[in-house]
Amino acid sequence: MTDTRTPMSDPLLSLRDVRVTFRTADGLITPVDGVSFDIARGETLALVGESGCGKSLTALTILRLIDAPGRIEPGSRILFDGRDVLTLGDKELRGIRGKQAAMIFQEPMTALNPVYSAGEQIAEVVRTHADGSRSAAWDRAVAMLGAVGIPSPEIRAKQFPHQLSGGMRQRVMIAMALVMNPSLLIADEPTTALDVTIQAQLLDLLREAQQARGASMLLITHDLGVVAESAQRVAVMYAGQIVEEAPVTTLFAAPQHPYTQGLMAAMPRAGTRRQRLTTIPGTVPPPGAWPTGCRFADRCAYAWSRCTTEAPPLHQLGDGRSSRCHLVTEPERRVAQIAGAMA
Ligand code: SF4
Repeated sequence: MTDTRTPMSDPLLSLRDVRVTFRTADGLITPVDGVSFDIARGETLALVGESGCGKSLTALTILRLIDAPGRIEPGSRILFDGRDVLTLGDKELRGIRGKQAAMIFQEPMTALNPVYSAGEQIAEVVRTHADGSRSAAWDRAVAMLGAVGIPSPEIRAKQFPHQLSGGMRQRVMIAMALVMNPSLLIADEPTTALDVTIQAQLLDLLREAQQARGASMLLITHDLGVVAESAQRVAVMYAGQIVEEAPVTTLFAAPQHPYTQGLMAAMPRAGTRRQRLTTIPGTVPPPGAWPTGCRFADRCAYAWSRCTTEAPPLHQLGDGRSSRCHLVTEPERRVAQIAGAMA
C-alpha cells in the first residue's frame, strides 16, 4: 500500500509504509501494517489506541528493536534526522540508540537491570556515548537523578531498582533517557503503571525536559487525557494501521473516525456531570483474524455492506487530517455519523 500523505518539510522522524511481520504456527501475521507518520523537530506526536493495536511494536521499529521471529519488511522506510535507519550498520545504530533517540518503557522493573545501581546504569549510558572518566560519568548520573526530581540523588544513585519506589524507578528511566540530551524521546505508556498523582508529576517532568532540550517525542498511550495535555498531533491506531491523524485541537473538536469517536466517548471528562461512559463493544481482533474489509467493521455502529467487503484507504482531508473510513466519501451517511457523535 503506497502512502499518499503530503510530506512534512524537514521532519526529525519519518515512517513510511512500515510493516512488521511474525511467522507463527498459524502462518504469517502483520501486526504493524503500512504505518506512516512524521514528527517535526520539537513536536510531540501521540500514538493512541487500545492494547494490541500495534503501538508499541511500531515504536520498537524506530530503533530496530524488533527481535526474531519478528521482521521489518522490505519496503518499509524509517528516516531519522535524514538517515535511513533500516540500512544503518550496527555501530551507527548503537550511536543513535540512547544518544540521539532514547526510549522510556512502561515497566522500569523489567527495563532496568536489577544487579546494577541506578547511578551505575545511567553512568553506563554516558560512558557508552561520551569520552571522559568513570567518576565524571558518575557525577553526571547523580546530577541527572537530581534533575529529574529524585531527592538525595547521591544516596539514591547507589541503590538498586528494587530499593526504589515505582515512581522513582520511572524517574531513573527518564534520567537514563535524558542524560545524553537526545533529539527524540520515545515514551511507551511512561506513566501507566503509576498512581494518578505520580503520573501527573512525571508527565510534567517529561514535558519540561523535552521543551528545555527542544526534543521531539513519540508518546504512546491509551489515555486521551494524557494526549490532550502533552501532544500537538495525534495518530490513532487500530488493528495495525493508522486510522486517523490530526492536530490535537481539531481531533478533540471533531473526531472523524468512528473508532476515535468511541475512544473519546469512553474518556472521563473533568468538570462535567456526565457520569455514564460508553465503551466500544468487543475487542481489537488479533493480527491473524483481521477482516477483509474495514478492520473496525464488527465494532462500528455505522458499518454497512461496503465496510465488510472493501478496506478503506487512509483519506487525506487537508490541514494534516486523515481518516481511514468510507464515510468520508458517503456524505449522507457522514451526516448521520456526525449527528450520532454529537448526541
Ligand atoms: Fe465504520 Fe465502515 Fe468507517 Fe469502518 S469504514 S469505520 S466500518 S463506517
